[in-house]
Amino acid sequence: MPISHSTINKNSKAPKPMCYSSIFFYSCLLLLSLSSAAASASIFSGNGTENAENRSDLFSEILRDEAVERLYELGKVSDASGYLERTFFSPASLRAINLIRRWMEDAGLNTWVDQMGNVHGQVEGSIANAEALLIGSHLDTVVDAGMFDGSLGIISAISALKVLYINGKLGKLKRPVEVIAFSDEEGVRFQTTFLGSASVAGILPITAMQISDKRGVTIEDILKENSLEITEGTLLQLKYDPRSVWGYVEVHIEQGPVLERIGFPLGVVKGIAGQTRLKVKVRGSQGHAGTVPMSMRQDPMAAAAELIVLLESLCKHPEEHLSYDGHCSSFNVKSLASSLVCTVGEISTWPSASNVIPGEVTYTVDIRAIDDSGREAVIYELSNRMYQICESRSVSCIIERKHDAGSVVCDPELSTQLKSAAYSAFKRMVGEIHDEVPMLMSGAGHDAMAMSRLTKVGMLFVRCRGGISHSPEEHVLDDDVWAAGLAILSFLESFL
Ligand SMILES: [Zn+2]
Repeated sequence: MPISHSTINKNSKAPKPMCYSSIFFYSCLLLLSLSSAAASASIFSGNGTENAENRSDLFSEILRDEAVERLYELGKVSDASGYLERTFFSPASLRAINLIRRWMEDAGLNTWVDQMGNVHGQVEGSIANAEALLIGSHLDTVVDAGMFDGSLGIISAISALKVLYINGKLGKLKRPVEVIAFSDEEGVRFQTTFLGSASVAGILPITAMQISDKRGVTIEDILKENSLEITEGTLLQLKYDPRSVWGYVEVHIEQGPVLERIGFPLGVVKGIAGQTRLKVKVRGSQGHAGTVPMSMRQDPMAAAAELIVLLESLCKHPEEHLSYDGHCSSFNVKSLASSLVCTVGEISTWPSASNVIPGEVTYTVDIRAIDDSGREAVIYELSNRMYQICESRSVSCIIERKHDAGSVVCDPELSTQLKSAAYSAFKRMVGEIHDEVPMLMSGAGHDAMAMSRLTKVGMLFVRCRGGISHSPEEHVLDDDVWAAGLAILSFLESFL
């Protein structure tokens, strides 16, 4: 995603958001339809799947057994011994690329790897010049990762296409279908996300090639090491023509606890939260911890503590804080509260000694909400209040805006199609069901965010144990892997 860097100075405060009125529009997308779904106990906990297991039209050997086997196999492809780590163009990534490519070929797909390390597996459609359906997720991981994040989306798509292949239906798909395993979504190595999907979506600037990792190796260097050269021209060639693409679908583990709580294996994503990252620098007066009286201190640590508590309070109860322009009803702001999350994840202090009043404290702020204007309102209010606090404490604060990504609303029509595909997968597995497939929001970013700049997007979330992700504890039930594959198969069958 394009990253905008700007600085909010004391004298040039954040532009006042026009109004919170558009909160209404997005707020109706918030959260999930818990009502009916909440009433259902775990839909796959009964005997349904045991009976289903023997049915040949459910393809459990491919969609569950083989898919799970492959998840474990890919989960072992790591640059580290003892834990999973696979970053952009690392040796393990190259091994993963070959493995995924082999699986794509095994599913009857034509394959290639592009200059940014994305693996493509494609089948032509039977109707000439029909727009292509793209299905994808990422092959890179965080450090000490789980084996489902990213991989599940790639493997479930390949498995579903393999079912069509062995049943002689692959060539009958009306439109071209392409699975893409994106090379970088987590951004661990270069601290920039979506290198893979942004290149396909055509939003990756050539200047990104000069970004360097901790050892000073640039993206350009690493590509050259692999005999790949990226120029403005080649980057342009990677971009898909929007007129040739019908839509993008991504299957991903939920990375949250909602599906498990309501007892559903799959959910349809309504939208992905927008995000802002700030860097806050608080400067005070460095001094001796024993000699400067409390009344004479300009302590940036105490100021930072107050600022962080303010952030928590504002994000927990925006309705108590965001009322300055009088245009928005409490209902609007209440809706904002249901998706708004704010985090201080990193803090450093100078000189960081137990007997020194710090001279400077720096910390990060991560703010996410599905409603972009609501997020702006929070940043505006937060900045104003922070400057007031810093002034009253006689310390200076600088708030830098390091990263912005707008929220993404998934295409309603595509979401409806995914919802019925998930519903029909459940039905095939457990028989009649009476509850609706849940709709939920994503607080985490996904390749679908970058792909939304190219085409309409839709996402399916898969339940994960305890909502845990980015951890070796990450786990998806074998039957839920099956449900994901079957849902994608049902979705693909609508293109036959
Ligand atoms: Zn992911």
